[in-house]
Amino acid sequence: THELRVQAVHQVTDRKPLPPKMPQRLEALWATDVFTLSKMQASLPKDVFRSVKQTVQTGGKLDVSVAGAVAAAMKDWATSKGALYYAHVFYPMTNATAEKHDGFISVQSDGSVITEFTGKVLVQGEPDGSSFPNGGLRSTFEARGYTAWDVTSPAYVMETDNGVTLCIPTVFISWTGEALDKKTPLLRSIAAMSKAAVRVLTLLGHAEVAPVNSSCGAEQEYFLVDAHFAHSRPDLLLTGRTLFGKPAAKGQQFDDHYFGAIPERVQVFMQDVEERMYRLGIPAKTRHNEVAPGQFELAPFFEAANVASDHQQLIMTILKMTAKKHGFVCLLHEKPFAGINGSGKHVNWSVGNSTQGNLLDPGDTPHSNMQFLLFCGAVIRGVHKYGPLLRAVVATASNDHRLGANEAPPAIISVYLGSQLENVFKQISAGQPESSDHAGVMDLGVATLPVFPKDPGDRNRTSPFAFTGNRFEFRAVGSNQSVSGPLVAMNTILADSLTWVADELDSKMAAGADLNTAAHAVLKEVMDKHSNVVFGGNGYSEEWHTIAAERGLANLRTTADALPVLKADYIEELFDRVGVLTPVELESRFDVYAEQYILAIEVEAKLVISMAKTMIYPAAVRYLSELSSAIANLKEIGIALEQETAEKVAALTKSMTDMISKLAAAMDKHDFATPEEHMQYSSQTIRPLMDKVREYADALEAEVADDFWPLPTYQEMLFVK
Ligand code: ADP
Ligand code: MG
Repeated sequence: THELRVQAVHQVTDRKPLPPKMPQRLEALWATDVFTLSKMQASLPKDVFRSVKQTVQTGGKLDVSVAGAVAAAMKDWATSKGALYYAHVFYPMTNATAEKHDGFISVQSDGSVITEFTGKVLVQGEPDGSSFPNGGLRSTFEARGYTAWDVTSPAYVMETDNGVTLCIPTVFISWTGEALDKKTPLLRSIAAMSKAAVRVLTLLGHAEVAPVNSSCGAEQEYFLVDAHFAHSRPDLLLTGRTLFGKPAAKGQQFDDHYFGAIPERVQVFMQDVEERMYRLGIPAKTRHNEVAPGQFELAPFFEAANVASDHQQLIMTILKMTAKKHGFVCLLHEKPFAGINGSGKHVNWSVGNSTQGNLLDPGDTPHSNMQFLLFCGAVIRGVHKYGPLLRAVVATASNDHRLGANEAPPAIISVYLGSQLENVFKQISAGQPESSDHAGVMDLGVATLPVFPKDPGDRNRTSPFAFTGNRFEFRAVGSNQSVSGPLVAMNTILADSLTWVADELDSKMAAGADLNTAAHAVLKEVMDKHSNVVFGGNGYSEEWHTIAAERGLANLRTTADALPVLKADYIEELFDRVGVLTPVELESRFDVYAEQYILAIEVEAKLVISMAKTMIYPAAVRYLSELSSAIANLKEIGIALEQETAEKVAALTKSMTDMISKLAAAMDKHDFATPEEHMQYSSQTIRPLMDKVREYADALEAEVADDFWPLPTYQEMLFVK
C-alpha cells in the first residue's frame, strides 16, 4: 500500500492541467442551458406567454390550459439541445438534490415511437420518493409524494457523461399536502415575510408597494484534493473528512496560500466550473484561494432566495462533477482536515422589492432611514427572540467541528452592527435627540443618520450574524448544507417581527401618535428588550462566553444540544403562526435531522474501527516486527540498539487496540428512549472515543517508518499539487 502512495505522488507530480478552453464571450454563454422567459416568448403564442409570465412573476400555479403549450415548447427546446430525458428535480430534507429521470419516449399503437411531454407531466410528477427520510410524515400506504413545478425557478438542461437531461425544479409534497422537502417551506417563508413587509411599508405611507422577496448570495468554500490521494483514503471517500492524520509540519501559519496565485490546474478547473455556471444562468462572481492550503472559495452574485437556493445546490453538484473531470475530488465537508481551517458557507441575505428597493440598505433620504431602521430593528428582535433557532438550522454532525473552534463564529448567536449603527440604536434607546425639534425624541424623519460605510475593511469576522452595509451575513452555515434551512429561519423570524412592528405602529397611530413618534417608540422597545443580542467584540474570546451567559444568550455547543430547539413550544408556535411549517411538519424535520446526525456519527465510528484495525494496526505491527528483528540481529553481533521506539510503538498499538474495543463496545448500545438521548450518546460517548482512537493512531504515524504507512499523509494531500 505504501507503493500506492508513492505512485500517487508520482502521478500527481506528472499531472498536466487540462488545456484551458478559449474563453467565450459571456453573452454567448449566458443562460444557454436555461429555458428562460425570452426563450418562452420566442416559442409560445402571445396569450400563453403572457399567462406564463404572470405566473412566473407572482409565483402562482400554472394554468392547466397553458401547461400543454409550455410543455411542448420546453420539450422542443430541450430535445434540440440533445435531451432524451426529463427529470423533476427536488430537494429532500437531507440537504441533497434528488431527481427521477423519465424518457420523452412514447410508444404508439402501431409500434412506432414519438417524443412526448404533456402539460400534466410538466406540472406534476410522482417520483418514488419513499426512500427519502420523511420523519414519519408519510405512512407506507401513501408513501408516494408528488412533485410540482416551481415556476419561479426556470427549467434547464444538464449535460453529464450520461447524456443531456431536461431538469424541472419542483416542490415535493405528500398527498395530504405536507411539505416533504426544503423548497416548500422556503416559498412559504418568502410569502409570509412579504405579507408582513408590505404591511409595514404601507403603514410607512408608500402609495405603491410591490411584493417583497428575499435575496441570497452564498459564498461557498471547498477543498480540492488530488483524486489519486483521495481514492486511497476510505475516510475521505465515505465521510468526506479525514478520520486519521497527523498534522503536517507546515499548516496554514504562513498564510501563503491565501495570498498566493491560484495554481494552474485549479485555475483551469475554476474556469470550467464558471463556464458551466454561466451556461446555467448562475452569476459566478468571485473566486479566490482560502486560508487553508488546498482551500478555495466561489461566490455568485446574489439572486432571489428561491432561485439562489436552487442554484446553490447546482453549484455543489457542478463543483463535484467538474473536479472529477480535472482529477480532483472536491470536498464540501466542513472540516476535512484537523488542525487547519474548515469550510463554511456565508449566506448573505436581504429583503426588498421593485418599488422600495433593498429594505436593508440605509439609503440616503431621511425617510429611507426610518424604514431601514425599522427593518433592521425587526431583524435584531428576531435574532434575539429566536437565536437558538438560527443555531438549530446550522446544526449538523459535520458543522459541529467548525462552530466554536475559533475559526468560525461561535455557537452563541449574536448580531454585529458595526460601531456607527450600534451607536444610532443606542441613541434611540437612550431617547437622546441627535438633532431634533420634537423635544426628547430623535426625529427619524430628519437626516440625522450618518452614512454607513458599506463593506468596511475592518469587518468583524468573529460574529455569526453580521450587518455588512446593506445586508446581513449569516456566517455559521456549513459548507455542505442547503441554504434553504437558514433562509427559511431568517425569513420566518423577520415575518414574525415585521408583523409585530406593523401591529405596534397600527395601535400607536390609532391612539393618536404620528408616524415618527410611533416608529421611534417601536425602535426604542426593540432596543430596550433586545439589545442584549448586539455584540461588536471578539466572538472567539473566552470572555464573550461569560458575557453571553450573563446576557442570557444560549450557547448550544453541539447538534445534540441544538436540534431539540425545533421541538420547543415557542418555535413550534412561531412556525405555525407565521404559516411556514405545521407542528407535524416541524417535528418531522427534527426527526430527520436527528436521524442524519446519529447516522453520520455511526458511519464514522464504524470506519474508525475498520481503518484502525485493517490499515493502521497492521502497519504498526509490521514495523514492530522489523524493529524487533533488527534489535535481535544486532544483539547477536554485540551491538545494543535502543529499544525505546519499539516500546513506544508497542505501547501506542496496545492503547489504540484497547480504545477500539471500547468504541466497538459503546457502539453496541441500541436501547435509547428518545432520539435526544441517542444524539447525546453519539456526541458525548461515541465521538470522544473516536477522537481517542485517532489520538493513538496519529501518534503512531509519527513513529512508524514512512514506508509502512498506508494512508496518504496530510502533507501529501495538502501540498503535493
Ligand atoms: P466577503 O468575502 O467580503 O464576505 P464576497 O464579495 O465574497 O464578500 O461575497 C459577498 C456576497 O454577498 C456576494 O454573493 C454578493 O452578491 C452578496 N450580496 C451583496 N448584496 C446582497 C444583497 N442585497 N442580498 C444578498 N446578498 C448580497
Ligand atoms: Mg463573507
